[in-house]
Amino acid sequence: MSVVQAERTLRSATAGTSLTILGATGSVGKQTLDLVARNPGRWQVEALTANSDVDGLAAAARACNARYVAIGDEAAYPALKAALAGTGIEVAAGAEAVREAGARPAEIVLTAIVGAAGLPPTLAAVKRGATLAIANKETLVCAGPVVTALARASGATLLPVDSEHNAIFQVFDHAAPERVRKVILTASGGPFRTFSREAMRHVSVKDACAHPVWSMGAKISIDSATLMNKGLELIEAEQLFAVGHARLDVIVHPQSVIHSMVEYVDGSVLAQMGTPDMRIPIAYALAWPERIETPCARLDLARIVNLSFEAPDLERFPALALAWEALRAGGSAPCVLNAANEIAVAAFIAGKVGFLDIADVVSRTLDKTGSGPLDGLDAVLEADRLAREIATALVAAR
Ligand code: NDP
Ligand code: MG
Repeated sequence: MSVVQAERTLRSATAGTSLTILGATGSVGKQTLDLVARNPGRWQVEALTANSDVDGLAAAARACNARYVAIGDEAAYPALKAALAGTGIEVAAGAEAVREAGARPAEIVLTAIVGAAGLPPTLAAVKRGATLAIANKETLVCAGPVVTALARASGATLLPVDSEHNAIFQVFDHAAPERVRKVILTASGGPFRTFSREAMRHVSVKDACAHPVWSMGAKISIDSATLMNKGLELIEAEQLFAVGHARLDVIVHPQSVIHSMVEYVDGSVLAQMGTPDMRIPIAYALAWPERIETPCARLDLARIVNLSFEAPDLERFPALALAWEALRAGGSAPCVLNAANEIAVAAFIAGKVGFLDIADVVSRTLDKTGSGPLDGLDAVLEADRLAREIATALVAAR
């Protein structure tokens, strides 16, 4: 059964739902703050976090009058403290301070930290039964069974922000999941959709970050270019909707108008569509079960004219094949896949390895670790640590 709990006590529509944003200085974080600013009084910001962006965090905290801010980098504490002097906003630094942001009593916690670094504050929010609007897919990939088990125990509600999962959530029959025949994730195909392997060999970080449709942070942009992003999303979908990997599918749809689909046993296919603007799924998760106005451009299908589809090419995009294998293997394999990918993407950004090395490092790391059981948080942390160690050595050897 899915832990996305479709029924819950309706929040007051009037005002002042408390909201924490983890990763407030990033692409998703800023778009969330944009919606907060456009809806005065609707959300009261409890806490904001960042890793090292002092100016961005301080400006955001002032603008929304946050109660608490936490920055991951401890060395940034004096500068952040100075930037918020006289505001009364509580300031803290370090990994424990970021975790504390998740533990503080906000009704909704939007998770937009990039990578497995989002796990501790996410777990803190899940443990106290909060409503989580989840953008930070890596947390569900590396520790999905732990997060969902904790959510079932605490009564936490998990709402997807990732556009595909938000689309599925909107058209999924939560009361009768057995009527779902397939959950179909759409993929734009990324900037190298039509490239040969040879052409991909020499692409730069800038090329990989130039996504044809979405404007996003560097890590997810590179994941979109390798199609690892779609692989992480398959694993994320399995955690959120629990339909089993045999009922998951991916279709490349370059226009990114259909954000995903659910096929039912009677042959009906329900899709959610919209312009590619993350403020639509963010607003849906924040206001759920209501809908609110957004400033997003409206879909003009007559102008778009064509919606096209093609099967993903697993040979040119081996990262997606690796994710499928990790999903089928289960246990620690998704955690290893995610950790190795984080190391390999960081190495690509740092100019230490080429684009094609990313999937290769992930593949070799998975070969070395195999898949073990993932029976709790300690097992997650150990699988993550070991995979990072192996992937780092593989990067160094190149
Ligand atoms: P960004 O890189 O733009 O932002 C990442 C945020 O996380 C920043 O606030 C950053 O702080 C913070 N952060 C980074 N590392 C750490 C750390 N070690 N500890 C604490 N905080 C940290 O990422 P995006 O907004 O693009 O993506 C965020 C998440 O949302 C990812 O998991 C991504 O896959 C997912 N997502 C993003 C979409 C998008 O459109 N961008 C769409 C769907 C999902 P600082 O600024 O100080 O470095
Ligand atoms: Mg997505």
